[in-house]
Amino acid sequence: MSFRRDFITKPIFSWARGVLPSMSDTEREALEAGDVWWDADLFTGDPDWTRLLAFAPAALTEEEKAFLNGPVDQLCAMLDDWKINWEWRDLPQEAWDFIKREKFFGMIIPKEFGGLGFSPYAHSEVVRKISSRSLTAAVTVMVPNSLGPGELLMRFGAREQQEKWLPRLADGRDIPCFGLTSPEAGSDAASMIDSGIICKGNFEGREVLGLRLNWHKRYITLGPVSTLLGLAFKAYDPDHLAGNTEELGITVALIPTHLPGVEIGHRHLPAMQVFQNGPNWGRDVFIPMDYIIGGEARLGQGWKMLMTALAAGRGISLPSLSAAGAAFAARTTGAYARIREQFGVSIGKFEGIEEPLARIAATAYLLDAARRMTCAALNEGRHPAVISGIMKLQATERMRIAIDDAMDIHGGKAVIDGPQNYLGNLYRSVPVGITVEGANILTRNLIVFGQGAIRAHPYLLDEMNALSEPDRAKGLDAFDSAFWKHVGHSFATLFRAWGRSWTSGAFAPAPDAGDATSFYRQLSRYSSAFALCADMALLTLGGALKRKEMLSARFGDILSELYLLSAALKRWEEEGRQPADFAALAWCMASGFKTIENRLAEICANLPNRFVGLLLKFVVQPFGARVLGPSDRIVHQCAQLVLEPSAARDRLTPDIAHVDDDRGLARLEKAFLLVAGSEDTAKKMRAARLHDWQEAVKKGIITQSEGERLAAAREAAAKVIEVDDFAPEALSPIYKKSADVHQLELGEQRAAS
Ligand SMILES: Cc1cc2nc3c(=O)[nH]c(=O)nc-3n(C[C@H](O)[C@H](O)[C@H](O)COP(=O)(O)OP(=O)(O)OC[C@H]3O[C@@H](n4cnc5c(N)ncnc54)[C@H](O)[C@@H]3O)c2cc1C
Repeated sequence: MSFRRDFITKPIFSWARGVLPSMSDTEREALEAGDVWWDADLFTGDPDWTRLLAFAPAALTEEEKAFLNGPVDQLCAMLDDWKINWEWRDLPQEAWDFIKREKFFGMIIPKEFGGLGFSPYAHSEVVRKISSRSLTAAVTVMVPNSLGPGELLMRFGAREQQEKWLPRLADGRDIPCFGLTSPEAGSDAASMIDSGIICKGNFEGREVLGLRLNWHKRYITLGPVSTLLGLAFKAYDPDHLAGNTEELGITVALIPTHLPGVEIGHRHLPAMQVFQNGPNWGRDVFIPMDYIIGGEARLGQGWKMLMTALAAGRGISLPSLSAAGAAFAARTTGAYARIREQFGVSIGKFEGIEEPLARIAATAYLLDAARRMTCAALNEGRHPAVISGIMKLQATERMRIAIDDAMDIHGGKAVIDGPQNYLGNLYRSVPVGITVEGANILTRNLIVFGQGAIRAHPYLLDEMNALSEPDRAKGLDAFDSAFWKHVGHSFATLFRAWGRSWTSGAFAPAPDAGDATSFYRQLSRYSSAFALCADMALLTLGGALKRKEMLSARFGDILSELYLLSAALKRWEEEGRQPADFAALAWCMASGFKTIENRLAEICANLPNRFVGLLLKFVVQPFGARVLGPSDRIVHQCAQLVLEPSAARDRLTPDIAHVDDDRGLARLEKAFLLVAGSEDTAKKMRAARLHDWQEAVKKGIITQSEGERLAAAREAAAKVIEVDDFAPEALSPIYKKSADVHQLELGEQRAAS
């Protein structure tokens, strides 16, 4: 007998059980997938910074480094992005063979099964480097190493299945793809109508128990060239051949694409990207039970398997591509802004250009910081589902902004397509990243906070589990414990948030981090404000918060900022508090704080319970949103990071695949160094109002060697500024034919008249 439990908790428990929104199995499995990490600390409202800073950074083994500097560089040298996209519409055969031979498809497959056994960080570094040379190649390499047959077999496959398939996937004898999306089921993938009916059938001359499959999938990457399709479908057992349940649920199986009834369609052309992608169908395809990944015991467990695999995979592939995209934009745009002159000066010197340039540079800093920190967690074997969602969403969104900025700064140079345009294809590819692995609007509005609130909150999941416990007495005990801890936590958070907000974070906890100490204080302050507002929103809205997508998105934005900014601080510390990089760090902080303050203000203004909304405003934001974003001084300093050749520039844009082929990036880099190296000479010439360097030499204004260097810089810059043009027949193979037909018709008309 406990007074608290029986007289106070019990009525609350009974009420909450009645109002707890019902959750489908697929929702529950999605929520329970993976685990939590730094997101849980942020949700406490009092993150432990020493724990974050003590977390070992991701590092590469010697073998992984050798792979990056060997086979990855060799592959990059084979890739001519223009020809791949516009002439061949595919990778060259030489690259396909090399990718298979060097086991790029088996990076995550353990060595015992013939793979390379690389860490998530190594996988990320490989994708990052290749993508700065060719997105098609990066996607081709990335897909078999993320969600798909390889990962699912490693995690859930039976030993015999692993021994049979993994060596074939590792060395490219089999090319995998993963089929989840169908025409009617996109974001709501669990609503698919693709089916597998349990029945007896003939397989390789024997009658066995298996499944008769019918499906229609689309958008499937590597589908058109795949030999092994990982297929998600709904399993049914109308004749009770496998047990008593008729609707078994989503199941994943391996389908060799040569089986009768499998039809691999033609190719889609996603945003003019030429990685292999297309639809496929199955009509009465029969597979034995042991083609289900994990065997018959895994019937109906497909959704959980997919969500678990996604919890890790989403944190690697697209964030790596996006971090590389932002770094590529920073390196190229800074160089171009330095080379390109208008009104007699480098355009990079105009404040109007500095503003987007600083945004690109800071985004590159932030995204790579977050990528590395997330990979460090993945390397340790964690599967942080909420963080993976944040990474996918934020990395692709911010890359979109960085690439837009890069396009604007390049002007016509990036608009005119041709072999000399190193940005246009990256720009076109942006919507692909935004759409795949959970389209961003859905991820922002539904997933980040929706999943985060339940998974990363210190008590909510325990309370929900207690409420749905079939044994009422047991449920009440568990609820009593979790609920009162929650109440204590809420009060502590209220006072913490109040104190920190009213003192502008002046006394909030922070490690001694030199110039960055005050940033930690602000994050501690915002974390407590976030935790308080989240608790109040959950309390006043309960399950209805799920439908309040705009509110949920704002909470998701704050959680995302808190995570990304933590990563930036960790990077700053790990790189030895580089003074030159401080501008990038300060830019990220000011911009992130502005977003956090605005979102808090929007939450307070839009919470349906107006009393709670006003109370929250009084506690966390008595004077409203006050941070204005990066100052002009920080913007100026941050832009300089990519306008000058320096160690800071190299730290910001490391390992961009650099092939010395006198095209694109190589040509730009050469011109950039020459122009920066002859800046003083150019200044002397400007001061003397001279353009002809030989005349300047004659007048003794510059030396002969200075003049020659200036001439080389001008020539290199002129080459970079060049754009392509095409003869009509080079643009259209049918041009000549249609021109001939036109002439013929003209002749006929003339004859008739
Ligand atoms: C190039 C490419 C490659 C792909 N590769 C694969 C692959 O290999 N395997 C595979 O199985 N699939 C693949 N996909 C499919 C991809 O995962 C889906 O496109 C994605 O899930 C979105 O589905 P949809 O395109 O049908 O958009 P829809 O589901 O129709 O969504 C349209 C819009 O509505 C939004 N939305 C939907 N629901 C909500 C909600 N509740 N709240 C707010 N907004 C919402 C979405 O965010 C989106 O903006 C690929 C897609 C593309 C384009």
